Amino acid sequence: MSRESELEERLTRVRERIAGACAQAGRPHDDVRLVVVTKFFPASDVRVLAGLGVTDVGENRHQEAEAKAAELADLGLTWHFIGGLQSNKAAAVAAYAGVVESVDRRKLVSGLARGATQREDGGGVDVLLQVSLDPPGREGRSGADPEELDDLARAVEEADGLRLRGLMAVAPLGEDPAAAFERLAGVRRDLVAQHPDATWLSAGMSNDLEQAIAAGATHVRVGSAVLGSRPSNR
Ligand SMILES: *Cc1c(COP(=O)(O)O)cnc(C)c1O
Repeated sequence: MSRESELEERLTRVRERIAGACAQAGRPHDDVRLVVVTKFFPASDVRVLAGLGVTDVGENRHQEAEAKAAELADLGLTWHFIGGLQSNKAAAVAAYAGVVESVDRRKLVSGLARGATQREDGGGVDVLLQVSLDPPGREGRSGADPEELDDLARAVEEADGLRLRGLMAVAPLGEDPAAAFERLAGVRRDLVAQHPDATWLSAGMSNDLEQAIAAGATHVRVGSAVLGSRPSNR
């Protein structure tokens, strides 16, 4: 099978899963945006996906993302940055990423704003705050504590070039994702009560997108279910 037909088949299956989960939740099938996570896969795969109608792609490492975005600039894709972000890279990320999903501390905001205001397209950057659903103190925990979100949201709202859009989260390992995403839905309600424009919810990956959509996700980030398994050196 050619890579193109393999990607097409897997993409169709993922789109069916999303539509099925939306139907199950009583939501319109176009309520949820698919972000295909292309980390570790070559730019040629991203080009094939764009030809199959993919508009949003996710990357988690700055160097790889920057190179692919430059190589594929002709495609008009929206690049979502979904990885851990160093403050000294924030401005560079905001130069190509239309959406930065992993903002988890105030220290990132000024760099992101600087990059966003210098974008050639003048379009600014959509920001999601990454919230941790892990218990406090867990090793490798990433994301802000729910109590920190209001402060962080204000900092983003006050920054030039950034639009506060909502939340991003990853279900913790070893917990039923439905329970974690239910907690997330509560965190989102609290945030939206204070910040009415922050309605996006990026949650759900290859193995738990149905549970995320049931809990109100507006964006799912799907890698391996579309592209196949990644090299295991992560
Ligand atoms: C890699 C990654 C994904 C995609 O994971 P899959 O299980 O391959 O679908 C989603 N979100 C984040 C933050 C990731 O790093």
